[in-house]
Amino acid sequence: MAAMKIAVVGSGTAGCACASLLAKTYKSQTAAGASVPKVLLIEQGEVLGGQATSSNLDAEKYSASFLNDGV
Ligand SMILES: Cc1cc2nc3c(=O)[nH]c(=O)nc-3n(C[C@H](O)[C@H](O)[C@H](O)COP(=O)(O)OP(=O)(O)OC[C@H]3O[C@@H](n4cnc5c(N)ncnc54)[C@H](O)[C@@H]3O)c2cc1C
Repeated sequence: MAAMKIAVVGSGTAGCACASLLAKTYKSQTAAGASVPKVLLIEQGEVLGGQATSSNLDAEKYSASFLNDGV
């Protein structure tokens, strides 16, 4: 039987959690030898995270290695 394909649209906290949970749940429930479903995370933006993203900083210059983008 062909492996089931699941698409999750959006890589915010909800989408990342959903895709991760689906992949882990199906992986643990799939019997040995059966096809493991493929989970595809689709994001329209350039980075993952949605509203909860951060930018890298020069740690020596700013005494911190990242800055939250609003959250
Ligand atoms: C300034 C600020 C401060 C906050 N502070 C807190 C806090 O202190 N505590 C707290 O719990 N929460 C806080 N939040 C809220 C929290 O960040 C959001 O509720 C959470 O990140 C939303 O996650 P989400 O996955 O629901 O949606 P989003 O983060 O909006 O993600 C949706 C993703 O889907 C993508 N997308 C949408 N449509 C499509 C499409 N058609 N195709 C492909 N991709 C698509 C978007 O590009 C985006 O990446 C804050 C939010 C802001 C803005």
